[in-house]
Amino acid sequence: MQHQVTVFNTLSRKKEIFKPLHPPFVGMYVCGPTVYGDAHLGHARPAITFDMIFRYFRHIGFKVRYVRNITDVGHLENDADEGEDKIAKKARLEQLEPMEVVQYYTDSYHKNMDQLNVLRPSIEPRASGHIIEQIEMIKKIIDAGFAYETNGSIYFDIEKYNKSYNYGKLSGRVLEDLLSNTRVLEGQDEKQNPFDFALWKKAEPEHIMRWPSPWSDGFPGWHMECSAMGTKYLGETFDIHGGGMDLLFPHHEAEIAQSNAALGHESVRYWLHNNMITINGQKMGKSLNNFITLNEFFSGSHPLLEKAYSSMAIRFFILQAHYRSTLDFSNEALQAAEKGLKRLFASMQTLKNLKPGKTSDSDVKMLRQSCYDAMNDDFNSPVVIAQLFEGVRIINSVHDGHESLTANDLELLTLTFNEFITDILGLLPEETGKDDIVDNLVKTIIALRQQARKNKDFKTSDLIRDELKKIGIALKDSKEGTSWEML
Ligand code: ZN
Repeated sequence: MQHQVTVFNTLSRKKEIFKPLHPPFVGMYVCGPTVYGDAHLGHARPAITFDMIFRYFRHIGFKVRYVRNITDVGHLENDADEGEDKIAKKARLEQLEPMEVVQYYTDSYHKNMDQLNVLRPSIEPRASGHIIEQIEMIKKIIDAGFAYETNGSIYFDIEKYNKSYNYGKLSGRVLEDLLSNTRVLEGQDEKQNPFDFALWKKAEPEHIMRWPSPWSDGFPGWHMECSAMGTKYLGETFDIHGGGMDLLFPHHEAEIAQSNAALGHESVRYWLHNNMITINGQKMGKSLNNFITLNEFFSGSHPLLEKAYSSMAIRFFILQAHYRSTLDFSNEALQAAEKGLKRLFASMQTLKNLKPGKTSDSDVKMLRQSCYDAMNDDFNSPVVIAQLFEGVRIINSVHDGHESLTANDLELLTLTFNEFITDILGLLPEETGKDDIVDNLVKTIIALRQQARKNKDFKTSDLIRDELKKIGIALKDSKEGTSWEML
């Protein structure tokens, strides 16, 4: 089956038909975390969004090289060019080597991503492992005349760049507005203009993370790593660059400027951005104390949480909204997602045991096509999920004997559920091991009930059935024996 995928390109501000540069290969770069703290809900959304896109592209036959970086140097406080390096600061406070901090939080990020069933990228490069590539790219920018040196630091000359290119085209900002809105911060007198950004910073004597360069012992500016590593692993021009909307400016805007300046052209063909998550209607922020880490979600140990939530409930909650829509977390919303997911998995179980009929009362082919149509329309996961719930309705209706499906259609529905729920949306039934234990326990109870019936102890037999019903387990007696299902 041929699929035509449409994506919303942040740069053109419209939906475009996605045509990879070298089909069937797709190059995709997504900005990963700065590893100086536990991953929180804000990290989960880009990871899950681009995981879904990665999975879908692979599903429809593309060969995707997915690069997601680890920022382990150069990301200074307040995302600006001043202040301490976020990792160096954490290392100082914890009395650790910066690379110990990096290793610890990279491991913890991987663990959380595994819990969310987010596939590992094809390449996961670290900024500190690509200092040479970054220096080489800075040299090119200097040679092209778009950067200048002050006291051993290199800054990007935005005013000059703007004469040849359009700085602000991605974020829709205009240089004049930037000029009038930029406060001149103390210590920024090294810059010709306050909005120029650092490509290389000379390290202060106390700064531990430092490398030699033609200009000074220092470290790269935060935006350099993505330009250098994207080019290294995906080429001078590649298909997709993704990330959260919070990275639009200045990070991605700076990346475009760096590519134009160093290469004479842009690198990225389609820019994709996921929207932000708010918590009870508020932006996430340290001062609001509503940065809920994923570990806190899984254990329920945060004052804003009514209970613990599973990783799959969080994944489902995120996929229930379109990636470009805002998404508001509340306990209510997450509990609704939990319930919906349970229904979806329960119907997958029911589907396994459905008996085929001679005719079909529902159009399964059309339902399957609607799922593809939704994914092809800028990865519209909420519409896919709505279609899957139509599938749930059909399954329950066949189960209750109100309609029937042929063997072929049952097979097609099973394939559709497996492909969309498991492979593309990446949703897995939780803790399979525990489910096996429950299954064995209920079977043991069923055996005890059989024994009671054999002994004509119908009082005990009925008591067992009624008590199980109270906890949501229904027993079904037939010639083949007794089976059970969740109500
Ligand atoms: Zn980046």
